[in-house]
Amino acid sequence: MNHTKTRFAPSPTGLLHLGNARTALLSALFGERFLLRIEDTDLERSRSEFVAELLDDMRWMGLAWDEGPQSAKANADYFQSKRSQVYARYYEQLELKGLAYPCFCTATELEVSRKVQLSAGQPPRYGGKCGRLNPEDVERRLQKGLQATLRFRVPHDETVEFNDLVRGAQKFDTDDIGDFIIRRADGTPAFFFCNAIDDSLMGVTHVLRGEDHLSNTPRQLLILKALGLPAPAYAHISLVLGDDGAPLSKRNGSRSLNQLREEGYFPLALLNMLARVGHHYENEGLLSLNELKQHFDISHLGKSPSRFDIAHLQHWQEEVVRVADDETLWQWLHKETQALVPMQKHVLFMDIVRTNCVFPNQADEWAKILFTDELAPTVEIANIARQAGEAFFLSALDAATAAGEDFNTFMGQLKAKSGAKGKALFMPLRAALSGRTDGPELAKLYQALEPQLLRKRLAEYAGVAG
Ligand code: GLU
Repeated sequence: MNHTKTRFAPSPTGLLHLGNARTALLSALFGERFLLRIEDTDLERSRSEFVAELLDDMRWMGLAWDEGPQSAKANADYFQSKRSQVYARYYEQLELKGLAYPCFCTATELEVSRKVQLSAGQPPRYGGKCGRLNPEDVERRLQKGLQATLRFRVPHDETVEFNDLVRGAQKFDTDDIGDFIIRRADGTPAFFFCNAIDDSLMGVTHVLRGEDHLSNTPRQLLILKALGLPAPAYAHISLVLGDDGAPLSKRNGSRSLNQLREEGYFPLALLNMLARVGHHYENEGLLSLNELKQHFDISHLGKSPSRFDIAHLQHWQEEVVRVADDETLWQWLHKETQALVPMQKHVLFMDIVRTNCVFPNQADEWAKILFTDELAPTVEIANIARQAGEAFFLSALDAATAAGEDFNTFMGQLKAKSGAKGKALFMPLRAALSGRTDGPELAKLYQALEPQLLRKRLAEYAGVAG
């Protein structure tokens, strides 16, 4: 039985961003087998640090690959920069069949011809000049040491048709495609070529990639057909736009995964968000990676560009935090935060974090409020204290001294002594205990604070109010 095999084929020229992380995720969701290939043919811009970072990001997201590199050390199986011998065989086959030829046109010649075509209102494409050279001319030029690129000879008057799994039936006229470069003058393979060859040789059955590659596909199909190699099916997924409607970039909210990780986003939040950009799931709750995979349906992928909204990512982040277990949340806290929380308050603090925080830096604020002595009242808080009056806090101090750690007894006594109720009871108390007007339930604040610190705050607030 044939299994679907998908792949993610990044070029390691920068950090992984939300757009390509989505391509990786959708490919991983769709494929029964998933392959990772490093397209590092641009020797100047590709860097092994980016490969290392990429592998880390993929692992962090939990996107395991069945085939691909396990480290950033380049090897001939999955790094295109090491596969020139493989490509050489196929260049040779194309040349022998007369389906590829060396091109000696200089950059200036090509530029002039491009301008002439554009000014005549024609789409710029290579006119095939070097394709008409006879073998002796070619030999003479090579002897002279002239640098040549290798061009693929595009057949005339044919159509290339394929059914795109997202965009439907596609039809391209070969006369609109000029002979194109498949090997650069420095010997490195051009994208169209090595990308298509590798997909075929590596047994990829389905290519999911950005719609910006759609117009490359007919060229790639022509190459594979010329070599008699099997072609994968293609699904060109729509681009992700930023909240300003422009393609997602650093300017409109895209961030590297690295940044998101540092801010404390959970990978599952990211996966739930990315899987739903332009793809609808019946179940609107938080899904595990496995569930996202089970219910992924390529026919649900929309054709129109979808917008990325940071609020969605935050929504999923909140969902993940709300159901995370104590150990996960504890590990998620900054080391400095962990150091502030007394051992016997761990469980209570995790409960406070789970219901009140979305990011570790918020947990840090609460740890400082609850477990350190620093709490300078803001003007707003001081006003609340003044309105409640000195007597309220003195009653609270008495009630706390009498009730110890029993919150209900404390509240009962305070109500009785102060006569305050509702907001007039809760708000000044919350202000005194936490210096804030919102946050965890009062009972939790009361129990989290060391009794001595709690009493100290109440006494201080009596002073502020008096
Ligand atoms: N290396 C190419 C890129 O990052 C891969 C395109 C493709 O998925 O075919 O754009």
